[in-house]
Amino acid sequence: MMLLLTVADGASSAMADPSLDLDRLEESGITVLESLLHDLEPLVNRRRAQGTLPLLTFGELYAPLNPAQRAFLDAVRAVAPEQLQGASRRLPAPDPREQFEKIENQPVRLPDGNPVDDQYLPKKTYQAYQKMMQAMQKNLGKRLWVESGYRSPAHQLYLFVFYLPKHNHSIRETNRFVALPRCSEHGSPARQAIDFINEQGINGEDKPKEFEALPEYAWLQKNAGRFGFHLSYPRSNSANTSFEPWHWHYEGEK
Ligand SMILES: [Zn+2]
Repeated sequence: MMLLLTVADGASSAMADPSLDLDRLEESGITVLESLLHDLEPLVNRRRAQGTLPLLTFGELYAPLNPAQRAFLDAVRAVAPEQLQGASRRLPAPDPREQFEKIENQPVRLPDGNPVDDQYLPKKTYQAYQKMMQAMQKNLGKRLWVESGYRSPAHQLYLFVFYLPKHNHSIRETNRFVALPRCSEHGSPARQAIDFINEQGINGEDKPKEFEALPEYAWLQKNAGRFGFHLSYPRSNSANTSFEPWHWHYEGEK
């Protein structure tokens, strides 16, 4: 049991449950998941209010949990992309020395009326994003904002399990909408992703069709490549991920 108390960032514990059903969690797994989400609520709410949720570490995520809950998270972390349909691949883990820019007080509201949480981007991605938005502003008289930028692998793991109940407790199905921690471009500064939201709060999470129809999206399709940004999930993609016109990743200017 001591193993579970010393789960290090980036490492999976040997306690992972090998019998995780990828098509639908067993009833016992669902019970553990429900208790885990309940027990993480205070931590997640506190970090969200502080604007530091995207930087959550595995140590911080595991701290409020009991051994069964930790073993459940370990089992999800141990799922390999090869076990799921499609070819989503492992991406380089963040460099612990990576420098992030914090993005606060963006002048945009989510469809539910709430402000956008504070976001983070690696310095290089942030600079390229600003440069691209200056060009969009000049051409279109409008720009996009960051609904979601960097998310640590621990934050990504939390999001993955948070969305599991909304996708019939199926890891396979959830993976079409939320990447596994090791596979998310949001958690890999080498290929940093941004989910965009426009000034009217049109975003991918709630209004995918409207986002696809935006002149801002048309502008990105024509111009983003010049700034080093690329659409990650076109309508049909080898990763079997749903079409995400709002999700772009930065590869650096060529
Ligand atoms: Zn995204």
